[in-house]
Amino acid sequence: MDRIFLNPIQVKEMKRKVNLNEITAKEPLKVKTEIQPSVMNLPKEEISRSSPFKVEIEIQKKPAGYQVKGHISGEVELTCSRCLKKFKHHVDQDFDYKILPTSEIAGGEIKGSDLDIKFSDETVLDLAEVVEEQILLNLPVKPVCSDECKEVHYTEWTEESGSKEVDKRWEKLKEFKNKLKKE
Ligand SMILES: [Zn+2]
Repeated sequence: MDRIFLNPIQVKEMKRKVNLNEITAKEPLKVKTEIQPSVMNLPKEEISRSSPFKVEIEIQKKPAGYQVKGHISGEVELTCSRCLKKFKHHVDQDFDYKILPTSEIAGGEIKGSDLDIKFSDETVLDLAEVVEEQILLNLPVKPVCSDECKEVHYTEWTEESGSKEVDKRWEKLKEFKNKLKKE
């Protein structure tokens, strides 16, 4: 996706909430701002800390709903799924999705990848929530602190063999390890 080049006149600095009703079909709304970690609601078990996140966003009104695209960048602190060490994970991510009114769900006209569609009737778009969602969508499934940590483990095959029983035990082990760590 092309990076958005912001026209200074359209840019509203340091704005956190966007009133979607203010956006006309004529002109997309562009916002560039920074979201503080204190206003985000990130899961503490997975993300122990977060830097402020830069966000650039462009919202375009469509015949039904809105097209939302932009970019986030910042840093979160994750826990390595192998050695349980905390490490910094850089997030530098483009996003592009549609917001459709929930009335469109019943229409059955939705095709293509549903992941790119978000159903919502809210008229205010909270950029803190947008950033939060994008961070979570782009978190590694199994965060690993380093290449060394990735290579060492001989148990890889059991984790990925697809057996639910094995997976459950792994979850238990993880919980146990986490508990030990907290004590
Ligand atoms: Zn590690």
